[in-house]
Amino acid sequence: MNAPSPDWHLRAKAATFDGRCVIGGRRIDSTEVFDCISPLNGGVLTQVARGKAAEINAAVKAARAAFEDRRWAGQPPAARKKVLLAFAANILAHRDELALLETLDMGKPIKYSLSVDVPATARVIGWYAESIDKVYGEIAPTADNALALIEREPMGVIGLIVPWNYPMIMAAWKLGPALATGNSVVLKPSEKSPLTALRLAELALQAGLPEGVFNVVPGYGGEAGEALALHMDVDAISFTGSTRVGRRMFDYAARSNLKRVYNELGGKSANLVFADCDDLERAAVTAAGCLFFNQGESCNAPSRLLVEASIADDFIARVVAEAPKYAPGDPLRADTVMGALVDVGQMHNVLGYIRAGHDEGARCLAGGRQVLAETGGCFVEPTIFDRCTNQMKVAREEIFGPVLTIMRFDDENAAVAIANDTPYGLQAGVWSGNLSRARRVARRLRAGTVHVNQYDEDDITVPFGGYKQSGNGRDKSLHALEKYTELKTTWIRI
Ligand code: NAD
Repeated sequence: MNAPSPDWHLRAKAATFDGRCVIGGRRIDSTEVFDCISPLNGGVLTQVARGKAAEINAAVKAARAAFEDRRWAGQPPAARKKVLLAFAANILAHRDELALLETLDMGKPIKYSLSVDVPATARVIGWYAESIDKVYGEIAPTADNALALIEREPMGVIGLIVPWNYPMIMAAWKLGPALATGNSVVLKPSEKSPLTALRLAELALQAGLPEGVFNVVPGYGGEAGEALALHMDVDAISFTGSTRVGRRMFDYAARSNLKRVYNELGGKSANLVFADCDDLERAAVTAAGCLFFNQGESCNAPSRLLVEASIADDFIARVVAEAPKYAPGDPLRADTVMGALVDVGQMHNVLGYIRAGHDEGARCLAGGRQVLAETGGCFVEPTIFDRCTNQMKVAREEIFGPVLTIMRFDDENAAVAIANDTPYGLQAGVWSGNLSRARRVARRLRAGTVHVNQYDEDDITVPFGGYKQSGNGRDKSLHALEKYTELKTTWIRI
């Protein structure tokens, strides 16, 4: 018999939180704290360290000491692999606790914190653990009297700055390759979702990661984040967040020690549906599902839907029919699929974009309102705007909420032109039963990932990142190892 499903409200009432920094393997009090507010009801969950330069300095010092004495980088790859596999197992062993923290802190449905966020985080750490002893160096084809070894070495101390939309997964995409390659890290989670990052550091310590290798300093971007990115003893910054803040990372590097900067930034991805698509129903279900998943707070959400004019009315009706399935609900209920937006500020941003859509003359076919206001939480209906132009604010700017903008096109060239007319280049989708066309269009789309006749495939084995102002470098896959290592050549006279 299946175990009865837990009462998440009871568990939420009993939950305990610890918002202190993790530095040098210990919980450390900070000089100041801030309130960590749940978007489910506006209540204060706990107080969290408001890290500033002093806490960042302490964390970087601990990370540097751990790197220099080689307590982690100096261990044999097989030993590091064992520790990271134990870390991954520990994440799974704390599945319910981590999922509850994630839901209370950033508003996503418990259903998905349990089935997506926790397992994906463990899988990423486990996958990079497995990579540690499988990546080889090279020997250059030199003359007989010399030997040139080409190998990758850890960089040193890496600053990781992450957003709030997938707090654990975004951290894991960086922690996995950074730790696997032997670095020490200082993680600065978003001030909107700091709780799971702090627990991850404790779970890593329990698994045997040496003290000082994985430090966490919560705090505001302009304080803790800036102090980390400007720090003279940080070798690289791996940042995921908005294009606006990503731009600053290069400035911080230029003003400090020219640290390496890797940015994973925003998106406004186009999803192109051609009249020769052979499964319009699946295309419609996917177009809505991938946009409304995670309350629309996904960097790669297919937020611009481009439909060939000859099928537009029929196709759009199918997409609109999906919207009610994503009615927001209590994130602690096991059957809720659309939760709360991360905070009041983000909710007002999204409602502001919805007003802009109306003002610019787009036609609202679904949603458009805040709901469940009586809960004190941040809930917005799934919203669909038709008859958009690519010049409208709702089509140009990343909304990062449950708002879909629809445009119509007459032919392939027009579709590609609209899709590429954006500062972003994270992902795109193409739906066509004609393989030649699908391939041709996929090649012409300026995006790091193009989905053909689906939009939801994802795996740790493939790179993730964008063209243009969606960033540089790639998270995930073996390619991510390059970001956290320096290429070293050693010449040996024979
Ligand atoms: P954000 O840029 O506001 O913040 C991201 C992180 O940077 C947070 O930890 C924040 O505290 C910190 N920060 C803010 N200002 C800073 C400053 N001046 N100096 C240093 N650090 C600073 O982004 P967000 O609102 O947390 O996240 C949403 C954005 O993240 C969206 O644009 C989304 O597309 C993007 N994102 C991209 C990817 C990707 O892989 N490309 C994945 C997830 C999210």
